[in-house]
Amino acid sequence: MIIVLKPEATKQDAEEILKKIESVGLKPLYMPGAERTVLGAIGDERVLGKLHLENHPFVDRITPILTPYKLVSREAHPDSTVVSIDGVQIGGGHFMMIAGPCAVESYEQMYATSQAVKKAGSHCLRGGAYKPRASPYSFQGLGLEGLKILHKVSEEIGLPAVTEVVEVEDVAQVDLYASAFQVGARNMQNYRLLKILGGSQKPVILKRGMAATVEDLLLAAEYIVSEGNPNVILCERGIRTFETATRNTLDLNAIPFIKQHCHLPVIVDPSHGTGVREYVAPMAKAAIACGADGLLIEVHNCPKDALSDGQQSLNPDEFAYLMKDLRFFVEAVGLKM
Ligand code: PEP
Ligand code: MN
Repeated sequence: MIIVLKPEATKQDAEEILKKIESVGLKPLYMPGAERTVLGAIGDERVLGKLHLENHPFVDRITPILTPYKLVSREAHPDSTVVSIDGVQIGGGHFMMIAGPCAVESYEQMYATSQAVKKAGSHCLRGGAYKPRASPYSFQGLGLEGLKILHKVSEEIGLPAVTEVVEVEDVAQVDLYASAFQVGARNMQNYRLLKILGGSQKPVILKRGMAATVEDLLLAAEYIVSEGNPNVILCERGIRTFETATRNTLDLNAIPFIKQHCHLPVIVDPSHGTGVREYVAPMAKAAIACGADGLLIEVHNCPKDALSDGQQSLNPDEFAYLMKDLRFFVEAVGLKM
């Protein structure tokens, strides 16, 4: 860490800060210049956070050298992490497809959609039982009944199911019925929820908040991993920008950045990322091309009747067609589907 002092800082001020650096076990460096004094701290600089040097009246700025996230960083863990959802692997060369409706609406809808996505080659099912909707008047999901339907269909079809957990109070219940937890964009910074999920070993799909930076996402993942759950899958699902042509702006820059700086698998959700059915296929292909380890895609047996997100849901034929196309892309980047 580099600490630049204000021009008025004296040698005594510098010495006071150097002593603090030493007190937490780091090696202090004193670099007086013609106009400014620069201090350095060698060692794991994250422990310096405890000193709150930024509060010191003679500290001008602090430049960290290491990333603020440690456990999820590639610096700390050069090999890619492989996460398994009930035996289905993602990361380290394994590509994972998760597909299903936005929301579980009924047994018939969930069964028909799941049968179709399995036939097309999806590895996992998705379906929300608790739906965090922008409007309180929109369909909020079937709750416990939805979880039971999802679980029954998942057993009958033979694919693991992923579903969103919205509330801390629902974690135990969702744990009973799903093979992986999903943390939605609106909850990415619900740190209490993240810590509780860190106490489980069940995989967590952590979606990027719509106003979160990639660093915020990686720090949110750090919350889960630092509590003891290494099974985190990151998900880029689009962010809010000034652009209104699409529902969100799918930030595909995030994928190579995350792959470079973090060892966790990362998937892309082109359904919420675009909000437009026709744009799902091109952005799914783009996601694979830029390094995604998997995709999360909304599919509904009859999108025109969907209770949520029908406009961005593929029908079974569209999904089957996309899956055929995607195989070439997945092979081209050297992943196993
Ligand atoms: C979802 O995937 O069901 C969902 C609500 O997405 P997001 O949290 O990305 O908005
Ligand atoms: Mn949705």
